[in-house]
Amino acid sequence: MRDVFIFPIFHIAIPLLLFEIPQIKKKYDFNRISLVVGSLLADIVDKSLLFMGIGSGRGISHTLLFVLISFIIVHLAVRGKKSISIPFLIGLLFHLVLDLPEVPLFYPFIDYDFIYIDDPFGLWLYVLFNEPIVSISEGIGLVILIFIIIQNRLFNIKNIITYLKFNQYKQLGLNQVE
Ligand SMILES: [Zn+2]
Repeated sequence: MRDVFIFPIFHIAIPLLLFEIPQIKKKYDFNRISLVVGSLLADIVDKSLLFMGIGSGRGISHTLLFVLISFIIVHLAVRGKKSISIPFLIGLLFHLVLDLPEVPLFYPFIDYDFIYIDDPFGLWLYVLFNEPIVSISEGIGLVILIFIIIQNRLFNIKNIITYLKFNQYKQLGLNQVE
């Protein structure tokens, strides 16, 4: 069975970068916590199941069915509040796209050979330094995160919390300095 790689930094950085696009930042309210949770949920669920001895590293939570069900649950839980449910959905979908092609998208409607990862953190550390594709992706992810930190002046906890909770740009009606 082929090994799969995991890219936690890349997985967070790419969707966050999407929300840095000025047209999106100016126009929409959004909660970045739900975006980050959505971006990582697939791995958290699958890896948790793995630790409990059920499932694999990239299994049921890496399917479109899981995306649909968890989106509906969150959508209902936040009573249809789009600034929370939509970023969550975007995070979920981005995760699957970034994990392609080793993703059992249409399970259970199509059968897949699930991929097993025994020690995700150990694997991540190992491949980070031994697999150029992982080193490069995580490196790019890190550069993007640094860009976002500088761009949004996330130099203290208060700013970080504000940044994560809502789109301050839109909330305060700030005009972009060109
Ligand atoms: Zn994944």
